[in-house]
Amino acid sequence: MSNGIKFLDLQAVYRQDQQAYDAAYRRVMDSGRWILGPELEAFEAEFAAYGGRRHAIGVGNGLDALALALQVAGIGPGDEVIVPAHTFIATWLAVRQCGATPRAVEPAAGSYNIDAAGVAAALTPATKAVMPVHLYGAPSDPAAIQALCAAKGLLLLEDAAQAHGARHLGQQVGGFGRMAAYSFYPGKNLGAFGDAGALVTDDDALATALRARRNYGSAVRYQHDSEGVNSRLDELQAAFLRVRLARLDEHNTLRRTQAARYAERLVDTPGLSLPAVPVGDEPVWHLFVIRHAQRDALQAALKDQGIETLIHYPKPVYRFPPFAAHAPAGRSAADAVCDECLSLPIGPHLTLDQIDQVADAVAAFCRGRAA
Ligand SMILES: *Cc1c(COP(=O)(O)O)cnc(C)c1O
Repeated sequence: MSNGIKFLDLQAVYRQDQQAYDAAYRRVMDSGRWILGPELEAFEAEFAAYGGRRHAIGVGNGLDALALALQVAGIGPGDEVIVPAHTFIATWLAVRQCGATPRAVEPAAGSYNIDAAGVAAALTPATKAVMPVHLYGAPSDPAAIQALCAAKGLLLLEDAAQAHGARHLGQQVGGFGRMAAYSFYPGKNLGAFGDAGALVTDDDALATALRARRNYGSAVRYQHDSEGVNSRLDELQAAFLRVRLARLDEHNTLRRTQAARYAERLVDTPGLSLPAVPVGDEPVWHLFVIRHAQRDALQAALKDQGIETLIHYPKPVYRFPPFAAHAPAGRSAADAVCDECLSLPIGPHLTLDQIDQVADAVAAFCRGRAA
């Protein structure tokens, strides 16, 4: 695979700014501060400013961000929380962690995401919150879902773990909900070199509650006014994230250029579905996901040419044992997506020539099958 095309290359991300990352490491090691120090404070200020929100609260990872948000909002046993059927399992686990019940919504036709109509149809008297996921970096109908939540008095919590910097109608996602949760898992558009996550909100009281909850329910050392957990974004990761945040817009722009190139080279390819981009959406292309009825054969053909692809995700969350009780009887829209979806390589480690190489290989396969 020496001439192969990698799906992801985080060492390339490191090497691009090696001096800045190494300087960040030195700064933290010399400071002797490891937890809840100046790097975290600076990153929180920079990340809040990036999204135009009053507060950012760093936590241990994206799953904790989601679970802590539901907890401080008072979601608990007996409450229902609306989640997409097609997402990473963390979205559902966060609901389970606070004792509430997930209610699945299927992806909208021609989309990988849920929309406001799907959410409206799933409401019950027990519904307390809606958790849209901006999957693959594409906005999940956030303005319409925001209006619905406002009309029904529901908490809107955005899972923006894959969508750092995406926009809808000119407004950044993560700015539609009362809170939004981010993951900085290394492979995300904004990633650390370890686990990390954050919440953003404009609500001062929620921000204060989140800061206490991530740190043993403590605002003042050894004073515990509420129940809490230990989920903090450490100083080293915060220092690394400050370097990567400064590159986020540039990397997102590169991803947009690559996505546009895929779309240009693959338009009207027989048997192939390209990701739709509704008017008003500016995705950040965490993933570039296509659909083909012979997905497994396509993946194998690409692998033979040294092109690495992945499947996000192989099954809807309710097809995994922990959530099997939520599975519909028949084949669902999410099942169909999961059987056909394939994530092509995209990201700052790739050149446009490599994108062309992947696109040509995909097109050749599709034409061969259609002939
Ligand atoms: C990555 C991810 C998470 C969880 O983030 P971690 O930092 O891995 O805990 C949650 N939701 C979605 C949609 C994700 O992609």
